[in-house]
Amino acid sequence: HAKRLGGDRIEVFRASLRQHAVDILAIESDLRRALEREEIKVFYQPIIRLADDSIAGFEALARWEHPKRGRLGASEFISIAERSGLIIPLGLLVLEKAARQLSAWQEEYGSDLGVFCSVNVSSRQLLRHDLINDVKAVLSRVEVARGTLKIEVTESLVMENPEYAAKVLERIKELGTSLALDDFGTGYSSLSYLQRFPFDSIKIDQSFVRGTAKERPVLLRSIVTLAHDLGMDVIAEGAETPADVEQLKALGCEYAQGWALGEPMPAEDARRLLGRSLRAAAQ
Ligand code: C2E
Ligand code: MG
Ligand code: MG
Ligand code: MG
Repeated sequence: HAKRLGGDRIEVFRASLRQHAVDILAIESDLRRALEREEIKVFYQPIIRLADDSIAGFEALARWEHPKRGRLGASEFISIAERSGLIIPLGLLVLEKAARQLSAWQEEYGSDLGVFCSVNVSSRQLLRHDLINDVKAVLSRVEVARGTLKIEVTESLVMENPEYAAKVLERIKELGTSLALDDFGTGYSSLSYLQRFPFDSIKIDQSFVRGTAKERPVLLRSIVTLAHDLGMDVIAEGAETPADVEQLKALGCEYAQGWALGEPMPAEDARRLLGRSLRAAAQ
C-alpha cells in the first residue's frame, strides 16, 4: 500500500513538473507580448533617510499587469526574462521610465534635493550586452542631476566576472550615475575585496535585517562599520517592523527600505509621497 502511495506521489510530482515547464513557456510567450502591449509597469519603493525619516530616493521595481494572472512581482518573471533574453528590452524599458520619472520629480521639486532613483540591472545586461551604451543613450535623452540615477547590481553578478564587471561599472559611473551593490551578504565576497569596485552604496540583504536573531546586530554593525571605512553608505533592505528600523538607526545605517517604511507604489503615489516629505521637512 505504501508503495502505491509513493508511486502516486511520483506521478503527482511529474505532473507538477510538467505543469511548471508549461507555465514557464506560457509566461515567456506572454512576456514577449506584454512588452509590446505595455503591460510592464515600474513601481517605486521609497528609501528613507534614517537621520530624519525623509525620503532619500526610490528603487524602481518592475511589475507586470498580467491580463489574466493579475499583478505579478518581479520575482515571478525576472528570471524567465533573463533566460529568454527578454531582460534586454525589459531592462531598457525600466531604465528609461525610471530616468524620466526621476527627471520629472527633479523638475517639479528641484534637482538640488539629491533625490535619487535606483534601477536594478541583471548579469545578462551588464556582462553580455552593451549596458554602457544603453545608459549613455538614456542620459542623453533624459536630464537628471549628476549621481542621482543609481545602478544596482547584485553581489553574485559582480562575482561572476569581477574583472570585467569592474571595468563596465567604472565606465557607467563616469557617465554620471552612482552605483549600489545589491543583496550584500549573499554572494560570497568580502567588503575588502569589493573595495576594488567603484560602489557608492551597499545594500544589506533582507536576510540580515529582518527578524530578531541574536547574532544579527553584530553582523549588521560590522557591515556598517566596514562600509563606512571604505567610504560607502549603507542601505538596509527588508525593514519590516518598527523594531527593525530602530535597530538600523542605532547601528548608524544611513538609509532603509521595507514594508515598515513604504511598499513599492505607482509613480503618481510616489510623487505625492515625495511632495509630502519635502513639505514636512520645510516646516
Ligand atoms: P531587489 O533588488 O533586492 O529588490 C527588493 C525586493 O524586496 C523587491 O521585490 C521588493 O518588493 C521586496 N521588498 C521590499 N521591502 C520588503 C520587505 O520589507 N520585506 C520583504 N520580504 N520584501 C521586501 P520584487 O519587486 O519582487 O523584486 C525582486 C527582485 O527582482 C529584485 O530584488 C531585483 O533583483 C529584481 N528586479 C526587480 N525589478 C527589476 C528590473 O527592473 N530589472 C532587473 N534586472 N531586475 C529587477
Ligand atoms: Mg535592488
Ligand atoms: Mg536587494
Ligand atoms: Mg533581491
